Amino acid sequence: MSRYWSPIVSKLRPYVAGEQPRIPGLVKLNTNENPYGPSPKALEAIQQAADDRLRLYPDPAATELRETIAARFGLTAEEIFVGNGSDEVLALTFQALLKHKLPLLYPDVSYSFYPTYSLLYEIEAIEVPVDDQYRIRLADYDRPCGAIILPNPNAPTGTGLPLTGIEALLAAHPDAVVVIDEAYVDFGGESAVPLISKHPNLLVVQTLSKSRSFAGLRVGFALGQQDLIEALVRVKDSFNSYPLDRLAQVAATAAIKDEAWFEACRRKIIASRENLVRDLEALDFEVLPSQANFVFARHKSRSGAALNAALREHGVLVRHFAKPRISEFLRISIGTDEECARLVSALKEIL
Ligand code: PMP
Repeated sequence: MSRYWSPIVSKLRPYVAGEQPRIPGLVKLNTNENPYGPSPKALEAIQQAADDRLRLYPDPAATELRETIAARFGLTAEEIFVGNGSDEVLALTFQALLKHKLPLLYPDVSYSFYPTYSLLYEIEAIEVPVDDQYRIRLADYDRPCGAIILPNPNAPTGTGLPLTGIEALLAAHPDAVVVIDEAYVDFGGESAVPLISKHPNLLVVQTLSKSRSFAGLRVGFALGQQDLIEALVRVKDSFNSYPLDRLAQVAATAAIKDEAWFEACRRKIIASRENLVRDLEALDFEVLPSQANFVFARHKSRSGAALNAALREHGVLVRHFAKPRISEFLRISIGTDEECARLVSALKEIL
C-alpha cells in the first residue's frame, strides 16, 4: 500500500460487491436485482428527457422527485433526502456520525457496507451478535450509543423485525439516531415510515434498486423529520456530492408514480419466493424466514462453498459469503419462475 496517503487507507476493508459477469444464458441470482424490468413509464420518461437539456446541470435539490416521494409516503418534501443509490445516502449518514463520542451499533450478520464505512470514517462501531437463529435481538441494543443501524428485513438473512420492536427501540434511545435500512422492505417487511411523525430520531432509508428494478440507475432516498434531513443536506453539500443526474431524476419520479407496475412486480416476486422456499426445503435445505427478494439457505449435509461452486458450473450464480457463522449459507435472489426452476433442477443434479 502506498506510504503517501493517510495510514487509514491501508487499514480499509473495501466492500466486495457481487459479480456482474456478462455470460449469455447465465442464471444470475447473486445480487438481489429484480428479474422484471423497470416501469415502462419510467423508461419512456428517460427517452423523453434525453435531449439537448442534458447540457444543463440537473436540479440540485431534485425538487420534483422529492415532492413525488413525499406524496407517496404522506410526508413533505423537506422530510425527503435523495442520493445516488441508498449506498450514497448511507455513506452520508455515516459521515454525519464523524467523530461522534458514542458508538454506532449494528448486527454482526448484516450489510457489509456498515463495517466498511465505519472504518473509512473512523466511527467506533460495535457489532451486536444475532441470535442462534440469525435473528436480531433488540434487547441486546440496550446500551449507550450514538446511533443504531438495522436493515429491515436484514441482509443477508432476509428476516424482518416487527414494527412494535422498532418503536420500542426508538423510545428506549431518544438521544440516538436510529437508521432503518429498508432496501428490501417492499417484499413483505413492515416499514417504519409511519413512525416518523412521532420520532425525531428515526431515519428510514429506501432504494429504487430492488422493488422498483432500477439498480442500474442509482437512486436511493432517506425519510425523516426535517432536522435530520437538513443535517444530511449539510453533509452532502460540504462534500459537494453530486445531485442525481437529470435522467435519474425524471426516471425515478415516473417509477415512484407507477404504483400498478410496482405492485405487480413485487407480488410476483413474493409468490415466487414462497414456491422456491418449498422447493429448497424439499431438497433438504434449511431456509431462514424471508421477507426480502432473496432467501438465505443452508443444506443439511452439503457445504455452502461446494454448492456455490457446483451451481456456478451449472450456469447458476448465487452469493456465498466466506465469513464466520454464515459460510454454510447461500444467498439466492428471487428470479423469474423459470430462473428459479433452473436453479432447482441444477440443485437436483448436484445433490
Ligand atoms: N442496503 C442494503 C441492506 C443492501 O443490501 C443494499 C444493496 N446492496 C443497499 C442498501 C444499497 O442499495 P443501492 O445502493 O443500490 O440503493
